[in-house]
Amino acid sequence: MPLRSLKCEKCGKPFETYAARGRFCSRSCFLKRQLAGSIWKNESNGYWYIQFGRKNKRLLHRYLTNAKPGQVVHHIDGNKENNSLSNLQILKGGQSEHIKMHNPVLARWAKRRAAASS
Ligand SMILES: [Zn+2]
Ligand SMILES: [Zn+2]
Repeated sequence: MPLRSLKCEKCGKPFETYAARGRFCSRSCFLKRQLAGSIWKNESNGYWYIQFGRKNKRLLHRYLTNAKPGQVVHHIDGNKENNSLSNLQILKGGQSEHIKMHNPVLARWAKRRAAASS
């Protein structure tokens, strides 16, 4: 199947896909588009949530990564609002690993590694 260059219908970013019906550059754009109106930002903690019905809400970055209870989802670039899948990392080592990720020296190293692999 040929690789096609398309423009994301949500954020306008160009992307390439083998899918026959690619419309969005990422799962997060797909969800934002599909579930428009139920994604909202909590201004007091800076995190985005996804709301299902009246009472059921989940942190968007945990929802997108299917994180299990006890797993920690880390924003690689440190920006809580960047919920693209390439910026989210499930830390199997839990909170102790997460604290290390937020150690400035280690965080810089991780960021460099993420930049090199993208
Ligand atoms: Zn997009
Ligand atoms: Zn983090």
